[in-house]
Amino acid sequence: MGYGEQVFQKAKDILQQKRLAADTALESRRAQVVRECPEYLMLERELALTGQAVIKALDIKDPDEVAKYIKGLRKQNLELQAEIARLLKVAGHGSDYLEPRYTCAVCRDTGIADGKLCDCFRKLMKQLAYDALCADSPLKISGFEDFSLAYYPDKPDERTGISARRRMQEVLEFCQAYASDFSPGSPSLYLFGETGLGKTHLSLSIAGEVIEAGYSVVYGSTQNLIARIEDEHFGRRAADGDSTESKLIHCDLLILDDLGAEFCTQFTVSVIYNIINSRLLNSHPTIISSNLSLPELEAKYTTRVTSRILGEYRHLRFFGRDIRQIRE
Ligand SMILES: [Zn+2]
Repeated sequence: MGYGEQVFQKAKDILQQKRLAADTALESRRAQVVRECPEYLMLERELALTGQAVIKALDIKDPDEVAKYIKGLRKQNLELQAEIARLLKVAGHGSDYLEPRYTCAVCRDTGIADGKLCDCFRKLMKQLAYDALCADSPLKISGFEDFSLAYYPDKPDERTGISARRRMQEVLEFCQAYASDFSPGSPSLYLFGETGLGKTHLSLSIAGEVIEAGYSVVYGSTQNLIARIEDEHFGRRAADGDSTESKLIHCDLLILDDLGAEFCTQFTVSVIYNIINSRLLNSHPTIISSNLSLPELEAKYTTRVTSRILGEYRHLRFFGRDIRQIRE
């Protein structure tokens, strides 16, 4: 996937910040060790000297002597390291206390490994490109821990004998398990029910955990994402790197919030069909939330769209009363 200059630059800046933070943290751990055991400074100096002394091997003609010299230096070096480790242990630190702690051990937060862009850098660019799409989302990422079942009535339903709270507890548990077990082969979900029953909250909670696990996630209201695709399609906006439609098709998890709220045209219906269908064909999971029941969905979109959602998605129905009204 190709990214624009802006995304590249931003990813570079973020990595540089990480490297700086790791270096600064190391410097303060070192200063602490010097305060705790001042003899550390002497050992550190001697260790540096053994490193520099290697170059003197060039002056020695006899190869046997060179080997002996290097062996001696190595022994001295190891002894110094052992002595430092002992000091650290006495002070209550691990032997790696004075190692830099980069977030990526492969490239040491430089973004380059073996002369190529490191995977961490690609991942970062990918997520930055998706974040730009999610910026349209009206809500910040919320978590499962803020989801309260207390807002759902626990009075048993007259017909089924099951309360909305019981139903929603099952929905919540399903979503939690879905988020923690997420893999690119996870099923697609259709979350439906009245407005204000927590569909957006739970899909954002899933998004948060899946991003945390290192997957690329695009979350957005269907209306905003479709408007963006329209703008790009009709030349009113330039895409950053790949087109929005392509990002929506290829991200690890796509969350289309509030399907059905957008204004439907032949163009939007065909874009939605293309996204849903392409993702199913590539086995990329999608989560759709909607206030529309399946018959309403069918009336609004073609059967081509609804048959995919009906046949290939897991359906989760949300129960209860509008939480936003109860809170007010
Ligand atoms: Zn890396």
